[in-house]
Amino acid sequence: MKIIIVGAGVVGTTSAYFLAKEGHDVTVIERQDGPALETSFANAGMLTPSMADPWNSPGILKTLITSLGDNKSAFKLRPKALPSLLTWGVSFLNNSREQKYIKNLHRSAELAWYSLKLLDDIRENMNLNYDQITTGSIKVFRDKESLDELAELSEHLRDHGMTFDVLYGEDLLKVEPSLEPVIDKLAGGVYFPDDQAGNAYKFSCEIEKEAVKLGAKFRYGVSVEKLMKKYGNISSLRTSDGDISADKYVISAGSFSAPLAKTVGLNIPVRPAKGYSISVPLKGWNGGPRMPIIDDGFHAAISPLGNVLRIAGTAEFAGLDSSLTQSRLDNMYNLLEELYPDFAPYFDKDQVTEWAGLRPLSVDGSPYIGKTKIDNLYVNTGHGPLGWTMAAGSAKLLTDIISGNEPDFNPATFNLDRS
Ligand SMILES: Cc1cc2nc3c(=O)[nH]c(=O)nc-3n(C[C@H](O)[C@H](O)[C@H](O)COP(=O)(O)OP(=O)(O)OC[C@H]3O[C@@H](n4cnc5c(N)ncnc54)[C@H](O)[C@@H]3O)c2cc1C
Repeated sequence: MKIIIVGAGVVGTTSAYFLAKEGHDVTVIERQDGPALETSFANAGMLTPSMADPWNSPGILKTLITSLGDNKSAFKLRPKALPSLLTWGVSFLNNSREQKYIKNLHRSAELAWYSLKLLDDIRENMNLNYDQITTGSIKVFRDKESLDELAELSEHLRDHGMTFDVLYGEDLLKVEPSLEPVIDKLAGGVYFPDDQAGNAYKFSCEIEKEAVKLGAKFRYGVSVEKLMKKYGNISSLRTSDGDISADKYVISAGSFSAPLAKTVGLNIPVRPAKGYSISVPLKGWNGGPRMPIIDDGFHAAISPLGNVLRIAGTAEFAGLDSSLTQSRLDNMYNLLEELYPDFAPYFDKDQVTEWAGLRPLSVDGSPYIGKTKIDNLYVNTGHGPLGWTMAAGSAKLLTDIISGNEPDFNPATFNLDRS
């Protein structure tokens, strides 16, 4: 079957691989000059089913309102984004009710965990290299109350076969010795041994090559302007390089999925949540973390990825605008300085790469995968803060749905009009 995927981020490239492996004739249309040059480019690199809890936790409304006047807040709502968030925002807040929040957590955790197992198979069978780390992740806390809250929430992960340990002082240092200079400031940490990490950009480039080997085609520098509809189905894509047609179409255009789908009257409830990262060369420093450290207070993480430290995080609702705001970047520099004061002599500001990307955030924290109300149009988008973590599982699920295989999930679980 001839299938076109719009978007070569980590989700689109991984989908291309799974679909091509199933024997489909796949073409990926991407406006950039290569894979993963937008949101999948410089994320925190964490593969963390442990972070499947949706961002719209009970209390999110208060957090967002407070953020309006606070530039340092981990979550930031910009007034200019408000009109684009109206209907979406109501559903987003509605999903923050306790019962829904827990249901959504389980949905995401199951997909994330499934995804990691598939990623293990891919990495081992194809010998891919993407600066992978398989030693877990640690969330650290400055106050005991927040630590206890996370420990309680993490109990839900045990339902999916994941484990975690609450650690204090020396025990925390045994797992992550690099925290030594700040251990006295920390109330403790939660260690998730099943988590992993790796460079999503490198992985996307590697999996793209594997997809190409299986016959997939990637057309770079081509922008899809609109979807064309005839007799109730998608008939072609209008692109900057002429009209292109296939039997089936998949939208994996990250935060741009929603405006694209709108060209045929389809609503994809995804809105951009901007995040920032800085990539800092290690320059021979060997006192850094062995695994990603997530700092709950800063809502940011430090990940060792090859020869750089990637500090990433914060969430800003600012519309489809990926420009850099210095005060948000400063949060990243401050976290590095605070957690790793010993790194100062190695730090070279001129060699830091600053970046921002737009997380495609759904209303309930889980992605939309599968059929739409238009018969030959599918989606694989809305992965929010966990697109790298969920890419393999989402691609496999999409492939099973398109190919008519028995999927490992009930397809209704991730469809667009789930409630
Ligand atoms: C600061 C930050 C930290 C993060 N950390 C993590 C993490 O640690 N772990 C994790 O799992 N996730 C993380 N994420 C989230 C993750 O990066 C995203 O969920 C993921 O990259 C989304 O992938 P995607 O393929 O859906 O979107 P994208 O990577 O944005 O890909 C979409 C592609 O579609 C293309 N496109 C869009 N419109 C068109 C069009 N009209 N025509 C042609 N092409 C088009 C774009 O150019 C783009 O390449 C983080 C995100 C940010 C911002």
